[in-house]
Amino acid sequence: MANGNRSVLVVGLGRFGSAVATTLDHMGQDVLAVDRNAELVSRWSSILPTVQADLTDVMAVEQIGITDFTTAVVAIGDSVEASVLVTGNLLDAGISDIWAKSVSLQHARILERIGATHIINAETDAGKRVGHLVSGNYLDYIEIDGPHTVVKIHTPNHLIGYSIAEAQVHERYGVTVVAVKSPNRDLEYGSKDLVMHRNDELILMGTQDQIEQLIRG
Ligand code: ADP
Repeated sequence: MANGNRSVLVVGLGRFGSAVATTLDHMGQDVLAVDRNAELVSRWSSILPTVQADLTDVMAVEQIGITDFTTAVVAIGDSVEASVLVTGNLLDAGISDIWAKSVSLQHARILERIGATHIINAETDAGKRVGHLVSGNYLDYIEIDGPHTVVKIHTPNHLIGYSIAEAQVHERYGVTVVAVKSPNRDLEYGSKDLVMHRNDELILMGTQDQIEQLIRG
């Protein structure tokens, strides 16, 4: 078994679930993909270990031998009812680490209430990310936890020519400069004497509000 004893059950072989399952498989993790749709299962069976089953049915859950799995990904977006029932069945069967895809705020709330450990709002998250990139302020953007983000921006005009300490980036904005990438130079980790130049890319960590304030200056 790869990587300690983690083995992952992926339920739902739509675009999301199949991307999760193939990524895990490429990374050498033990993965079993389940879908109730026989046609999908046969399409994926030459690429991934797959089983056809409807996991809203407790008997089907038992037949799969659930005790082998430490983690499950519930990638069912076409039926909120099925997503919730499957999540409940897997929790009842003893899988405590469950990543469930939600398609709405209400869906996310129910999944959270019944005990899913991670809720993935794939469309909302992707939409937010694209919004930030399209705004042109960010070269890259990752949401870490709640309001916390890591972003890549060009050095704002008001910071050009100052070191991180001189600009008091953390003291004034609460933002951490993780690293600075100058054109034609290797990436350097943020240290107090590092000077930020025009056209440098800054990798920053902070809340979105703090970063917006830093950009405005
Ligand atoms: P995406 O939006 O990521 O393309 P969908 O959410 O439309 O994917 O796909 C969900 C998948 O989950 C479908 O392939 C569907 O057959 C499968 N599915 C739905 N309910 C169950 C269930 N009870 N047990 C197993 N698989 C299910």
